[in-house]
Amino acid sequence: MIQVYERENVTCVEAKVALPSQNGIKVYVYLVDGMLVDTGPENLQKEFIPFFEENEFGFVILTHSHEDHSGNAQWIQQKLNKPIYVYEKGISVCQQSVPYGEYRKISWGNREKFSPLPLQNTIQSNHQEWEVIYTPGHASDHISIYDKLNGRMFTGDLFVSTKTKVIMRYESIPMIMKSIKKLLTYDFGAMFCSHSGYFKEGKKLLKQKLDFLEEVYDEVEKLYRKGYTISEMRNKLYPKQYPVIELSDGEINSLHIITFIIKDIEQ
Ligand SMILES: [Zn+2]
Repeated sequence: MIQVYERENVTCVEAKVALPSQNGIKVYVYLVDGMLVDTGPENLQKEFIPFFEENEFGFVILTHSHEDHSGNAQWIQQKLNKPIYVYEKGISVCQQSVPYGEYRKISWGNREKFSPLPLQNTIQSNHQEWEVIYTPGHASDHISIYDKLNGRMFTGDLFVSTKTKVIMRYESIPMIMKSIKKLLTYDFGAMFCSHSGYFKEGKKLLKQKLDFLEEVYDEVEKLYRKGYTISEMRNKLYPKQYPVIELSDGEINSLHIITFIIKDIEQ
């Protein structure tokens, strides 16, 4: 169920969740220089516990507060007594148990409450310092973690795939684009993504994603100027009805891509 391997001195812990809507989705937890990046979802707790118990780490850093990243934070806090850091905006949501709906419970389990500490602009692991870069869009408390010395970047859920077709209700494509642009100003090669793993040429892929999103943005803007309604745009740009849309009761939908872009145009 869980695979552990090394990439550029980072221990990658790869797990797979059987989502109701898809064949399954991968989730990654990373361990580097005594720093654990994310904790995986609660419904994989049994699989992750041996790794947490057998590997030394001083603290946990969460790329954001979503339950597939923070699902085992409570266990780590209670059983191993390790500090857990999250971006300031994410603290209050971490202090609540299961603050999300049915579809997400089925997908990721019940993320119980825990008490994180607020992240600063930098964080120190055993032998080096990391820069914490605020990269909102996927979530308002989303950060990336940068190692200037070795050109490695942990990107949480900012990347996931180059061609985004569906997003969650509260995700903002324009903000994701801004965050990607921000990361592209940094010098790095390796990217560690929380759902698609390690990429040697990560920065190139992020650039490809930005190009794709810019195309989508331009298309939506063009149709908007022509007077298309949102549902007309959806039918034209996203004719495929992904099963996840119905299963999530519309929380995950292509429509949100369009609505956030329109909001941005109208600003
Ligand atoms: Zn997320």
